[in-house]
Amino acid sequence: QGDPRLKAISEAIRVVPHFPKPGIMFQDITTLLLDPKAFKDTVDIFVDRYRDMGISVVAGVEARGFLFGPSIALAIGAKFVPLRKPRKLPGEVISESYVLEYGKDCLEMHVGAVQPGERALVIDDLVATGGTLSAAIRLLERAGAHVVECACVVGLREVKGQPGLNGKPLYILVEPR
Ligand code: AMP
Repeated sequence: QGDPRLKAISEAIRVVPHFPKPGIMFQDITTLLLDPKAFKDTVDIFVDRYRDMGISVVAGVEARGFLFGPSIALAIGAKFVPLRKPRKLPGEVISESYVLEYGKDCLEMHVGAVQPGERALVIDDLVATGGTLSAAIRLLERAGAHVVECACVVGLREVKGQPGLNGKPLYILVEPR
């Protein structure tokens, strides 16, 4: 990809070795948020891609999907739906658990937030194994939505099209450094 904005976006993401545990190269997007040009370019690239895809739902994964999702949703005229960790949403929810490197986690979505037949985009900051995104996809599909694509700021090219995402397309801006 020849987009010159991507280099600056990649360089604005701080890499913190051995956080939160030994061996993990943590991709810290909080430093991207400190750079208004790179932050805006990130949102703009997603907005340009998704504005004419008939998307009515942007679903953001807690917590860092909440930092990008609402801006994209507003710009493309879609609703924003938070996919939250357990026991955070006050209304009736549906839940999907997923396996992490150590242990298990779960995402929840409010019943009624998404109507059958809606076209959805799932957004998070980073995809590693794809386990989190696939739980998000399952939630939306249980509500009858069509997941058009998953989008992340950072991801490994190899994860693209992996079976873990149930065949859903994945769009990523930069690779981990
Ligand atoms: P996965 O379910 O394995 O695709 O992991 C993706 C989730 O874990 C995302 O919500 C990320 O925010 C977080 N995550 C996993 N690995 C990293 C990493 N190296 N740096 C920052 N966040 C990560």
